Amino acid sequence: MPELPEVETVRQGLAELLPKHTIIGVTSSYDKSFPNTPADVKNFLIGARVTAVKRRAKVLMIELDTNYTLLIHLKMTGQLVYRAENGERFGAGHPNHSLIGDLPDISTRVSLQLDGAQLFFNDQRRFGWVRLLPTVEVPNIDFFKKVGPEPLAADFTAADFRERLKRRANTTIKAALLDQTVIAGIGNIYADEGLWGAKIHPATRVKDVSTTKLNNLYTALRDVLALSIEKGGSSDRNYVDAKGKRGSYLTFANVFRREGQTCPRCGHEIIKTRVAGRGTHTCPHCQKEPK
Ligand SMILES: [Zn+2]
Repeated sequence: MPELPEVETVRQGLAELLPKHTIIGVTSSYDKSFPNTPADVKNFLIGARVTAVKRRAKVLMIELDTNYTLLIHLKMTGQLVYRAENGERFGAGHPNHSLIGDLPDISTRVSLQLDGAQLFFNDQRRFGWVRLLPTVEVPNIDFFKKVGPEPLAADFTAADFRERLKRRANTTIKAALLDQTVIAGIGNIYADEGLWGAKIHPATRVKDVSTTKLNNLYTALRDVLALSIEKGGSSDRNYVDAKGKRGSYLTFANVFRREGQTCPRCGHEIIKTRVAGRGTHTCPHCQKEPK
């Protein structure tokens, strides 16, 4: 599943390419992928120019000069692929062959025709969606009302982080991190890497983690997210964006999917267990199990 760094990678790529393009047409092969009224599409999408590409949590927002916004959630298997007549290409999101193959293909749910280019929303599993909304209404959709703060926002402090987590004092720290209403965009990879970085066992109850360790976790999580964004996301198999750049984060993950290998910090063997219902990677020496 694309996590925050992968969605941010999509955003950064599209932010260079989409602004100033005009949307000429749209086709959709699956209604649930594009649940919009024809009148809104005709009046506020067709003929609109893109002004900006933003992100909140794992949702992309393509803002238009009609004061409407295209919201896109990639969910499990969504990806966005840009192809220009001048040969410029970009694609990111779920890593599969559709990023580089001929489009549209069998996974294409929505195609936007732009002046001189096309943008494809591909989504094998069909959980993702594209919605057109007035820009002023975007903050009011259920998802944005519930979702927690951005972990990389400049004004998100260690004190904010501790305060948000303490709302889940009796749950395990890993479950609290994965809860999108606590903090936005942390998935399994970043939870495991962050907890290893802060030397916290994932099954520790939030209330039993010291302030110092929570501060260390805040720093470790932000570092690993920023590093992953810098590397183009965590996508780990056959992944290239259409500029030929590989998402390379997992090549230097410290614990995630490294069971049986040695901990880069202490040399003990990394193990895989289950915490919060998810496959969990830890160093049993660096991350002591709670009593
Ligand atoms: Zn270790």
